Amino acid sequence: MSRAALLDDQDRLAEAIRFIEEGDRFLVVSHLHPDGDAVSSTLAVGWILHKLGKDFLMVNEDGLPAKFGYLWGSGQFIRFSPDLSASTFNRVIAVDCADFARIGEVRSCFGPDTALLNIDHHPTNDHFGRINVVFADAAATVEIVHDMAERMRIEIDADFATCIYTGLLTDTGGFRYSNTTPKVLRTAAQMLEAGAEGSRLAGLLLERTTFGQTMLLRLALNRMERSRNGKIAWTYVTVQDLADTNATLEDTEGLVNYPRNIEGVEVGILFKEMPDGGVKVSLRSNESADVSVIAKSMGGGGHAKAAGCTMSGSLKDCMERMIREVEAALE
Ligand code: 5GP
Ligand code: MN
Repeated sequence: MSRAALLDDQDRLAEAIRFIEEGDRFLVVSHLHPDGDAVSSTLAVGWILHKLGKDFLMVNEDGLPAKFGYLWGSGQFIRFSPDLSASTFNRVIAVDCADFARIGEVRSCFGPDTALLNIDHHPTNDHFGRINVVFADAAATVEIVHDMAERMRIEIDADFATCIYTGLLTDTGGFRYSNTTPKVLRTAAQMLEAGAEGSRLAGLLLERTTFGQTMLLRLALNRMERSRNGKIAWTYVTVQDLADTNATLEDTEGLVNYPRNIEGVEVGILFKEMPDGGVKVSLRSNESADVSVIAKSMGGGGHAKAAGCTMSGSLKDCMERMIREVEAALE
């Protein structure tokens, strides 16, 4: 990175810190269906606000996935309910949200004068905040939150370290994806020194499954298909499957890696029929294809190698349409 860009990053961080220091009361939000980085960066920001003696509320359209219950502040991660709309917040911190719409219904807590701090690492982020700390070279949003705490010279404890380590671990697929930079590993090492329990977290987040999850995997593997040239592989999960296997939508996480991991596959896809209609699509690419472009053209977004969108129509229809799009993109 150039010196000018680095200086610009430092300016952005300084602005974000000023935004936090100047306010008294904050709403911390992230994207709906929060993943490890969304949850961890929300709680890590909450931890910083707590250390500074600020008043804050952490709200998400969806609840905290049960597996993250060990994190500091997980009990204060509130699921949005319409009565929350009665209170408006002047200062909002959005973490890990690629675009404004991904915040979902929690936006009804924003007033006309709400100032937004947008902290994110998605290259497709549309800079919807008043202040935008969008570093596309960060592996996870927690990496940016950590840099902020460091710059603020807040003494890090095991609670904070566990949040940061969790976001790094989940967004890098266990320190395996191409976003695993030397800086990520240096930060992870510091978090271990500060008390994060690496092997326990890896076991909990990357290895342990529920029985429902394993039964769902069995169904999904049974249905695996690939294109004639073998470059696209996909599978799907229906609402009925979730009921049959006693699994939840959370249990579909990681399923998309099975089509992606097949030799010769360039793009792996998971289609999920959603309970409230529509089909959620997860796209993963191995080498050359930039799936964020495909996702963005269908109203979604993400990263070059991991992106997603929600389509409307029947499962069969959405699958056919998306596979055609991916085929065209690979030509
Ligand atoms: P996943 O497939 O695991 O849901 O998401 C992969 C990546 O794509 C994540 O970084 C996620 O934030 C992004 N993503 C998934 N769905 C959407 C979407 O509907 N809109 C946008 N902007 N990004 C998405
Ligand atoms: Mn993230």
